[in-house]
Amino acid sequence: MENDLTSKLPLRENIKHIKRILKMVAALDKTYFFTACIVHIINVIVPYIELILSAYILDAMLAKKGFEHIFTVAAATTVFVFLLHFIASIVWNHLEVRKETTYQMYECVVEQKMLQMDYTWIDSPRVKDLKDKIRADMNWGAGLYSIFWQVNGVLYTCFHLVFAIAIGASVFYYIWKSGNYMLGFILLCILVVFLAAQKLSNHYQRYVNQFMYYRETEDEKRKENIGATWDWATGDGFSYQNGKDIRLYRGYRLLWHWTIGKNHSRDNEKNLNFAAKSSGMSGFYGSFSKGILEAGSYFVVGILAFSHLLSIGNVVKMAACLRNIFMDVQGLINGISMLSISSRQAASTLDLLDLCDDMYKGKLPVEKRSDNEYTIEFRDVSFRYPQSKQYALRHFSITLNIGEKLAIVGMNGSGKTTMIKLLCRLYDPDEGEILLNGVNIKKFKHDEYSKLFAVVFQDYQLFSFSLGENVAVSNQYDRERVKKCLKAAGFGERFAKLERGTDTFLYKDYEDDGVEISGGEAQKIAIARAIYKDAPFVLLDEPTAALDPLSEYEIYTSFDKIVGSKTAIYISHRLASCRFCEKIAVFHEGRLVQSGTHQELLQDVQGKYYEMWNAQAQYYQEEA
Ligand code: ADP
Repeated sequence: MENDLTSKLPLRENIKHIKRILKMVAALDKTYFFTACIVHIINVIVPYIELILSAYILDAMLAKKGFEHIFTVAAATTVFVFLLHFIASIVWNHLEVRKETTYQMYECVVEQKMLQMDYTWIDSPRVKDLKDKIRADMNWGAGLYSIFWQVNGVLYTCFHLVFAIAIGASVFYYIWKSGNYMLGFILLCILVVFLAAQKLSNHYQRYVNQFMYYRETEDEKRKENIGATWDWATGDGFSYQNGKDIRLYRGYRLLWHWTIGKNHSRDNEKNLNFAAKSSGMSGFYGSFSKGILEAGSYFVVGILAFSHLLSIGNVVKMAACLRNIFMDVQGLINGISMLSISSRQAASTLDLLDLCDDMYKGKLPVEKRSDNEYTIEFRDVSFRYPQSKQYALRHFSITLNIGEKLAIVGMNGSGKTTMIKLLCRLYDPDEGEILLNGVNIKKFKHDEYSKLFAVVFQDYQLFSFSLGENVAVSNQYDRERVKKCLKAAGFGERFAKLERGTDTFLYKDYEDDGVEISGGEAQKIAIARAIYKDAPFVLLDEPTAALDPLSEYEIYTSFDKIVGSKTAIYISHRLASCRFCEKIAVFHEGRLVQSGTHQELLQDVQGKYYEMWNAQAQYYQEEA
C-alpha cells in the first residue's frame, strides 16, 4: 500500500497552502470568516452559561436559598440564553446561506479551470493524474474542499478552549491552594495517559485512512483508464442509448469485472481485513482515552470537594470544564493534523489551478473588419500531438483568402482535422507559424481570435438543454434568428413539429418531455449553431457524415447561400461533395500533396486525388 498519508509536507508549505486557500474563500465572500467567528463564539458561550447556571442552582438549593431567589436567577439567565440563541439563530441563518453559496462557488474553481484551461492540457497525462488525485481527495473528504470546513472546526475548537480554560482555570488555583500537589501530579498523569491513548487511536486510524485513500486513488485511476466502460457502469449504463449495447452484448459481465469484480482481489481483501482490525483498535483506544478523562476529571474535582474547597455545584462545573480543556486540546491537535493532511492533498488542486495557459498570453486585439478582409496563412507548419512521436502535420503551407471556399480531402488520419484545430488555436504548432493578415495568431487575444471561427467538428457536442440554447450556446438568444439558422441548416420541417419550438429540450436528462433526435438531426443543429455564430470563417469537418442523401444534397446546394461571403473550409472524405469548392487541398500522411480545382486535380493521373476519385467513383458508381 502506498504510504501517502503518512508522508508530510514541510510546515511552511502547509501554512502557505492554507493561507492561499483562505484567501480564495475570502475573495469569494469577504465577511465570511468574520460572521463565522460570531456564530462560533455564541455557540460556545451558551452551553457554558447553562453549565454555570446549573452549578449555581445546585449550590443555591444545597445552601437552602429561597425559591424566589433561585427562580429569579434562573429566569434572568433563561431570558439571557434565549436572547443569545435568538441572535445566534439570525446570524446562523445568514451564515448558512453564505456558507452554501461560498462553498458552491469554491467547489467550482476546478471545474472553472478545467473548462477554460488550454485545450492541449485536457488529455495530458499530468492533468489526468491531477484529476484522479483531486477526485480521490474529494471522495475521501480531504484536500482543497475540506479545508473550508476544517478551518471552521479549528476556529470553533479554539473558542471553546479559551472558554474552558477561562472557567476551568480555578481548578488549578484550588489544587495549588489545597497544597495537594499530588492531585496536580495525578492530573498530569491523566493527561499523559489520555494523550497516549489518543495517539494510539490516531495511529490505527491512520492505517484505515491510508487504506481508504489508496482505494479511492486506485479507483479513480481505474475509472479514468477504462473511460467509457466506467461511464456505462456508473451513469450511462442506465441510459437509454447505452442500454442497447449492454443488453445485446451482455455488457454487464464486463462492467462487473471492472467495477465490482476488481475490487474483490485477494490483496484487496487482505488490506480490507487489516483496515477493519485497525479501525477496531482505533475505536478501542479512542473510547479508553475518553473514559480515562471522564473518570479522572471527576476524581480530581471530587477530592477537591471532599477537602471542602469546591462546592457540589462547582464539582459538576469544573469536571465538565476540565474534560473540555483536555478534549479541546486533543481536538485542536487533531484539527491541525487534519488541516495539514488536507493542505498536502490540496497540492494537486493548487497545481492544477497553477497550470500555465499559454494560449491566453496574446495581447493584440483582433482588427474588426466589416468587409471580413481576413487572410490566413499556414507557413511551414509542423505539429505533433502531446505524447505522440509522429507528426500529424508536416511542413504544411497554405494561404486562405477572403471569401475563398476550400475543400480538404484525404484519407482518414491524414491531418485534416488537425489543421482545423491549429487554425482555431486549440493547439499551437511545434514549428512554423500561422498568420492572420500577416501577424502570428499567437499574438492575438485568444477570446477575440476565437470569435473569428464557427466550427462544426465531427464530434460536435449538443447539450441536454433547450434547442435555442444549443444553437446560440447561451441562455439568452434571439428566437427568430435561431429559427432562421435551423431552417437554413435543413432542420425546418422537424422544427415545425416541435410544440415548444426553441424551448424544446434535447434529450430527457433534464426534462421529461425532452426530445430524442437522430444523428442527422443533431448534425443539422450543430450546423445551425455555426450559422448563428455568424463568424467570418466557417469550418465544417465532415458535416454531412450522418445525413441522409436528401439532406446532404440540401446542405450542399444551399451551402454557398449559408456561407455567403465568408471564408469556408470544408472537410470531407466524399470527393463528390467537394466539387463545388473553388480550391481543393489534398492531404496525405500529414502533408499537403496537391491543390487546385477538381478538374485540374483530375488531370494529374499519378496524383493522390485521381487515385481517390477513381476508387470512390467505382464504389459509388459516380461519374467525374
Ligand atoms: P483526419 O482528420 O485527416 O482523419 P486527424 O487530423 O484527426 O486526421 O489526425 C491526424 C493524425 O493525428 C492521426 O494519426 C491521428 O491518429 C493523430 N491524432 C489525432 N488526434 C490526436 C490526439 N488527440 N492525440 C494524439 N494523436 C492524435
